[in-house]
Amino acid sequence: MMIPSPWRADFPAIAALQRQDQTYLDNAATTQKPQALLDALTHYYANGAANVHRAQHLPGAHATQAFEDSRLKVAQWLNAGDSGQIVFTHGATSALNLLAYGLEQQFQPGDEIVVSALEHHANLLPWQQLAQRRQLKLVILPLDADGLVDLAAAVHLIGPRTRLLAISQLSNVLGVWQPLTALLGMAKVQNALTVVDGAQGVVHGRHDVQALGCDFYVFSSHKLYGPDGLGVLYGRNAALERLQPWQFGGEMVLEANYHDSRFRPAPLGFEAGTPPIASVIGLGATLDYLARLDQDAVSAHEAALHDYLLRGLAARNGIRLLGKPQLALASFVVDGVHNADLAHLLTEQGIAVRAGHHCAMPLMKSLELAGAIRVSLALYNDSQDLERFFEALDQALELLR
Ligand code: PMP
Repeated sequence: MMIPSPWRADFPAIAALQRQDQTYLDNAATTQKPQALLDALTHYYANGAANVHRAQHLPGAHATQAFEDSRLKVAQWLNAGDSGQIVFTHGATSALNLLAYGLEQQFQPGDEIVVSALEHHANLLPWQQLAQRRQLKLVILPLDADGLVDLAAAVHLIGPRTRLLAISQLSNVLGVWQPLTALLGMAKVQNALTVVDGAQGVVHGRHDVQALGCDFYVFSSHKLYGPDGLGVLYGRNAALERLQPWQFGGEMVLEANYHDSRFRPAPLGFEAGTPPIASVIGLGATLDYLARLDQDAVSAHEAALHDYLLRGLAARNGIRLLGKPQLALASFVVDGVHNADLAHLLTEQGIAVRAGHHCAMPLMKSLELAGAIRVSLALYNDSQDLERFFEALDQALELLR
């Protein structure tokens, strides 16, 4: 059965990679870019770059308009109440660090921060370091056999001392949607702040931050087919009002004196210095492109490809999946084969997949694995990409076993 992608030609890099004999299946790490984004970047740079929010001149006004239009597009993409709730950062990682520093004053020694056992280092280490700075307790929610947070355990671990819950929406290792509604509900009963790491989740389907009801939601543009060096922090108004600025400098200030200063509210108060202007404008163009696609068709395509991937893996001996992936990716190990050896042989055959701990070292340790191979899909992949992967996998395993 063939599963073609109707959107493949919209991404010029896919054909370029094919000419280099490369099959790109590392989309959870970063994605290829649509022509619409390349056009927007060329247009911006070819027509006059200018800094935003400060210049009176015409190029500055154009850049500021395009920049703020993009903020509105991001707000609409997430169904945020207004564009003032969208803060641009340099990535999901810097958004999470902003939160861990900007919320620091709200914690007292002994307070608890709750994360899950599968968090990416970006959603673990900022909280771990905050806990160390403020003598807080970091509580780890265990997983069930499928890789979902164990809700029966969470009921006991999210309690009156919980001040914040930080949880990923879709795991970058296990490919499972976490039971967010239940977990956010438990945190809210305790009046705890809630942070959702949407780095992987935002790429699959449309998500409504108001319906989700979290205080903060973060993602990186580059995983959502957008430019790199750019992240998004959405915050509920009440939560943003209590967030302290983390970085200081130009543009975030209301009034500066030699010995004290006053700062702007969100979003500009959290955007010190020159932002990644072209990337912000490019993300807006990427979202325009994505908004034109039939979302149901994209979801159906992604589900069909994922099913094809899982079936192919299940048909081969000795392959052990991590968890029970629901979408987008599958991580696996092969009995008796080191993941680095397998990765090496796949790389030699032009298959771009990821091997290792996937920035979730504690999860890997708890699974007693040195690492795993991860195949991750995007809307431009097709079944031929997976066929090439399976052929390379069979050849590699013949050599290694
Ligand atoms: N969270 C998750 C679940 C991720 O997969 C990633 C990227 N691998 C991040 C956070 C961090 O994103 P970035 O490196 O773009 O800041």
